[in-house]
Amino acid sequence: MAGSVAVIGGTLVTGEGRARADLLLRDGRIAAWLADGKAVGADEQVDATGLWVLPGGIDVHTHFEEPDPNLLEGFETGSHAAAAGGVTTVVEMPQAHPTTTTSGLLRAKAAIVERSAIVDVALWAGVTFAAGQTEADLEAMAGAGAAAFKSFMASSSPFFPAVDTAGLLRAMRVAAATGLPYGLHAEDDALLRYGIGRMREANRGDPLAHAESRPPVVETVAVAAALVLAEETGAPLHVCHVASAGALRLIAEAKRRGVRVTCETCPQYLVLDTEDLERRRGFARCAPALRPSEEVEAIWPFVLDGTVDLICSDHCGFTPESKRLGDEDIFAAPLGLPGVQTLLSASYTGAVVERGMAPERWVRLVSTRPAEIFGLAPRKGSLAIGTDADLTLFDPDRRWTVTVDDHLHRQPWSPYEGKSLQGRVVRTIRRGQTIFDDGKAGAERIVAPPGSGRFVPRGAT
Ligand SMILES: [Zn+2]
Repeated sequence: MAGSVAVIGGTLVTGEGRARADLLLRDGRIAAWLADGKAVGADEQVDATGLWVLPGGIDVHTHFEEPDPNLLEGFETGSHAAAAGGVTTVVEMPQAHPTTTTSGLLRAKAAIVERSAIVDVALWAGVTFAAGQTEADLEAMAGAGAAAFKSFMASSSPFFPAVDTAGLLRAMRVAAATGLPYGLHAEDDALLRYGIGRMREANRGDPLAHAESRPPVVETVAVAAALVLAEETGAPLHVCHVASAGALRLIAEAKRRGVRVTCETCPQYLVLDTEDLERRRGFARCAPALRPSEEVEAIWPFVLDGTVDLICSDHCGFTPESKRLGDEDIFAAPLGLPGVQTLLSASYTGAVVERGMAPERWVRLVSTRPAEIFGLAPRKGSLAIGTDADLTLFDPDRRWTVTVDDHLHRQPWSPYEGKSLQGRVVRTIRRGQTIFDDGKAGAERIVAPPGSGRFVPRGAT
């Protein structure tokens, strides 16, 4: 990896602003910002004329899910899709078989990353307090470099039990002491069971029954409880995939009072709605559910005013066959959507193209803030001299239509298929090495070997 790379002719767009400059990369780090033409003599020249040069995208919510005997996605294919989407670092969720709930399991997962991934990977630590897990396990995972803790407030998978209110309090005390963010899937368990039960009694298995079984209030009630406990304990709470204006209103108020809370949303809650759920059925089933268009419009002001800290994908790999089960009964389709490859283009289209957000504010949502919150800054998330040379070359004007042939993730489908997006990733550079080149065709576009990605512990410099 020795040798220097010059990225010439592009416009640098960071969370701070825009500048016309060339970049000199050396030994995997950003060595210098140079005026036009000053980078001649580098070992490799990358022409970025007409393109934006962004700090590599950081997707803090992916389910590549290894180890897993079914291998529905995996670090190799998942990181190919990430690279194609301009994402150079992911923070991988603790769902796996077995679930990542001890420091030994966390280290084992990091070893899989270093054999398989082509992007860098930080790891979430799972908190269930099941199967004998205690506070000491949480502290040990923090010591092993976990980026954040994660729990479910509602039952999701039998492999990843929800925590009750006492479990939340216990985990938040460890989060407050270690400084790790505590990420929550915030839906109220009792309201969710009640909602699904009502749909079952009415013999509803149509697509909208999924959305109606878990309306926004299910999320808002859970967020309210989490905020009370965060304020009580001083824990840094991070609310995952917020998809309701009511929850965002509570988060905005808590932020104003000084509560340590951050939150994320996902493109599926910003550019898709219940019409997509009706049309795509199981292929649009996720949790929280896609919202009616009025709710989507009520969420956007919180993205534009900065209440939402970051946008991530919640990428999952499920087979088309399993998703097709939703044709008969929506509740039979598994919950989750692929999205790491479309994260940047879909969020750019919604925020910058359609709603006029400044490009540097969009870069904060998909790179700068994720790095800051998940302990990856200052190494990642900026284009500062001395930091990792993770770059995304992005054509802000190119319009393209999402097609099945384009996907590099393991499962051949996307909830955005047929949608027209603006802004396309042209090249992705991770620690100075090109890992994705859109100038080639199909799978040839991936130009890095498995295992060139690294595990990134929280706070690494
Ligand atoms: Zn998730």
